[in-house]
Amino acid sequence: QAKASGRQSIRFFDPTMQEAVSTRLQLEEDIRRGLQGVEFIPYLQPQLNAAGQLTGAEVLARWQHPERGLLAPGYFIEVAEQAELIEQIDLQMLRQASAQLAVWQGAPATASLCLAVNLSARLLYQPDFIETLLQFLSESGADPRFLKLELTETMLLDDMSAAIACMRELREQGIRFSIDDFGTGYSSLAYLQKLPLDQLKIDQSFVRELPENDGSAAIIRAICALAGSLQLEVIAEGVETEQQHATLLQLGCEHFQGYLFGRPMPLAEFEQLLVTRGVAKEQGSVSCLIAD
Ligand code: C2E
Ligand code: MG
Ligand code: MG
Ligand code: MG
Repeated sequence: QAKASGRQSIRFFDPTMQEAVSTRLQLEEDIRRGLQGVEFIPYLQPQLNAAGQLTGAEVLARWQHPERGLLAPGYFIEVAEQAELIEQIDLQMLRQASAQLAVWQGAPATASLCLAVNLSARLLYQPDFIETLLQFLSESGADPRFLKLELTETMLLDDMSAAIACMRELREQGIRFSIDDFGTGYSSLAYLQKLPLDQLKIDQSFVRELPENDGSAAIIRAICALAGSLQLEVIAEGVETEQQHATLLQLGCEHFQGYLFGRPMPLAEFEQLLVTRGVAKEQGSVSCLIAD
């Protein structure tokens, strides 16, 4: 039949393509199975202030696969997104992050730590998302002000007014928002004024070019100035070298994340780092809230 319907349909029987489809479906099934257990676990990557103290961590999902071992998002995020399973992974991260915040808040030494969780686009537009998230927080007893949600520009632009409504409601409860990969979208800056934001996260593509690239340095300086005048915190991600760190400090950046300070790591390892590095006494924006 392939012959009869012409040349085009031959591609349909391409064995490598067929293989790709079945691998994808297998992966999808495998993710579904993994979501039934506790295979998706949060790894924590340290975030530091200018004094070098820990302010918290970004939660990065890892898949502790029973046969394949530990898998990074590059392996599963794309398929999880297409199969609409990413939302469930996000919710599992949010539930675990809430529980961890509650534990830390129980001890004065760790009470100021924040966790930043990545959010996929669709979750933000899901009608019961707000209720679910607030339930995670109240069930665990975590103070919402120490939870930050990382969003990307492109996902917000899908339906800006719905995004704003959802963000406002969560922010009223104290949850904070960061724009991830900032500077890589092609949108206008007007949205910065409309969104209830707390932080801009400078994309690692700019940081990687430091210190040699004057263009990247200029962009980072501009982002820091912009953040300053909009009263937003700014954090640089992908900091790998001392030179990059020093340059970022000079350019006005006050928060840092990157391999230089630690790779994404299991909770136990992060808690050891808390001891050696020291925890910041207070978070910039949280201490403002407390002072209010
Ligand atoms: P992202 O949110 O922009 O996270 C930063 C990525 O850069 C992470 O990759 C992190 O491990 C990596 N990274 C951190 N420091 C450095 C550095 O100094 N140098 C370099 N070269 N890389 C660094 P990872 O963990 O593989 O995650 C990739 C992406 O997957 C994340 O990008 C995020 O968009 C997505 N992701 C991860 N976990 C989740 C999740 O729970 N939910 C959702 N929706 N997305 C997630
Ligand atoms: Mg992120
Ligand atoms: Mg990023
Ligand atoms: Mg990214």
